Formats: sequence, C-alpha cells, structure tokens
Amino acid sequence: KKKLDEGLEKSKTSFLSKLTRTVVGKSKVDAEVLDDLEEVLISSDVGVNTTLKIIERIEERVAKDKYVSTDELNGILKAEIASLLKENTTGVTDNFEFPKHPDNAPHVIMVVGVNGVGKTTTIGKLANQFKNQGKKVVLGAADTFRAAAVDQLIIWSERVGVPIVQQGMNADPASVAYDTLQSAKAQGADVAIIDTAGRLHNKVNLMNELSKIKRVMDKVIPGAPHEILLVLDGSTGQNAYEQAKQFALATDINALAVTKLDGTAKGGVVIGISDQMQIPVKYIGVGEGIDDLQVFNKQAFVDSFFG
Ligand code: GDP
Repeated sequence: KKKLDEGLEKSKTSFLSKLTRTVVGKSKVDAEVLDDLEEVLISSDVGVNTTLKIIERIEERVAKDKYVSTDELNGILKAEIASLLKENTTGVTDNFEFPKHPDNAPHVIMVVGVNGVGKTTTIGKLANQFKNQGKKVVLGAADTFRAAAVDQLIIWSERVGVPIVQQGMNADPASVAYDTLQSAKAQGADVAIIDTAGRLHNKVNLMNELSKIKRVMDKVIPGAPHEILLVLDGSTGQNAYEQAKQFALATDINALAVTKLDGTAKGGVVIGISDQMQIPVKYIGVGEGIDDLQVFNKQAFVDSFFG
C-alpha cells in the first residue's frame, strides 16, 4: 500500500490539484464543473473515450440525485472508475495461485512489448515474486533479436536464482520457446515465462513470429500460452494506447502490465487502457527495484490515485 501510494504520488498530486482548481468556490456539481472535470481527466491521460464514459455516468448520477455537492465528487469518481476497470480474473490470482492445467502442466506466460518499456525487468520481478511464493519458475529467452535482451534476462535469472533456457542471439524464437516448455515440463515447473521480441515497425513479421511461437508452445503444452502479457510503459501516456492497439492486432493479448508509474503524472493511462482494450491490467511497475511490481488491485489503485 505504501509503495503503491508512493508510486502513484505524482499522478495523484497532479490530479488533485487540478480537481481542486475546478471546484474552488463551488458547492454544487453542475454542467460547468463536469466540463472542467472532463478536461482534468483527459489531461491526466485517462483518454478521451473513457473520460466521456465516466462523465456521462456522473451526469446521470447528478440528474438523478438533483443535488450533488462538490465534496462528494471525488468519491463518486472513484466508485465509477472502480466499476469501469476490468476485474483481474484470468490466470494468476492476487496471491499467485495458478489455474490448474491438464497433466499438471506449467502455467505459461508469454510476454510481449516493444524495447525499453520494461519487459525484461517485469519478467525478472515476476519471476522473483513467483519464486518467493514457493513456485518453481523457468525463464525462456525468445527475444533473440537483440543480444542485450538475452544478456539482460540471463542477469535477471541469476539475480533471482531461477533457470533460464536460451540459445543466444539470432536463434529461432520458436525453438527457444519449444525448449523452454519442454524443460519446464521435465522439471515439473509451476510457471514458464517467455520473453519475445517486440518489433512493432514490422507488423507482419511480428504477427508471424508470435503466431509461430504460440503454435509451438501449444504443441508442447496444449492450451499454452495461457497468458499473453503485454508490457506497456505508463510514462509514455498516449503512446502506450497506440502500442496496445497495435499488439492487440498482432496477437491475443489477455493481460497488461503497466510499468514506470512512479515518476510520472500519467498514471491515468491504466484506467483508459484497461477500459479501451477491455483487457485487465494484471501488474503495475512502481519502481526499478526487484520488489517494485504489484498485482493490480483496482480498489487499491483508485484509493491511491484519487486520495
Ligand atoms: P526492455 O527493453 O523492455 O526489456 O526494458 P528493461 O526491462 O531493460 O527496462 C528499461 C528501463 O526501465 C530500465 O532502466 C529499468 O530499470 C526501467 N524500469 C522498468 N520498470 C520500471 C518501473 O516500474 N519503474 C521505473 N522507475 N523504472 C522501470
């Protein structure tokens, strides 16, 4: 909770100061206040469509209740946003329980995202959390496009103390994925996390590569990958929306991780992206440290974000 509060501090301070400015000297929520609130939400990176949806809901509430005081506005906003956010129900639960798969096969998470968003760090942090929960983890270095990606993942595997399957740079990513799942199965691992390359500039290649990796995984473990986790850099605001849309076209993303929420006032992207993509945010990154990854809890998030 403290870490979450700290991580969202900038977003919250920025939001609350804007909100305070819009309601100063006003006791009643009227059309003008709602107009201003709309601007505040958009400028907090919640995104236009999601903002309009939220404003509409509050308008309905105001119309129904006749009088809504500005003191109540933040509370109403929190409730509406919490009800809007997708529940984090697929795959790994809050306490890191994995769904059961046939033959006790490991839970397979394929991680996608463009370079620099914090993909490797997120995999390392995740592996650490799973390991701390007593789970057996195997990493797979299928982002073979950059030597640095493989090296970075090796460093994380050593740091966390979990095995990694890698074939170096330029290896066939599908072959690495295949080996990783074979190895995970043979070791009786609970979870396999596979890094992949995210070259958005060539969408057809990306799509083909991800489909091939998926096909191969499904051959080793039917149903795998169970989770396709897209990592997005929260500090890039609207860019993160664009990336989410592009990746959703390339593969079946079913979970999001939003990183670097510390040190940015753009935390509203978490709300907008989840709503626009209709994909739950599962993890949020709130720092560079190994423990700075949290399972997303929508109530905790709105409580920290909106004060
Ligand atoms: P990749 O290229 O997507 O694999 O990105 P990396 O995992 O190498 O991360 C890029 C940079 O972002 C590194 O300096 C990380 O320490 C940093 N980073 C990753 N996640 C977070 C986060 O949640 N908060 C902050 N402040 N930095 C992060």
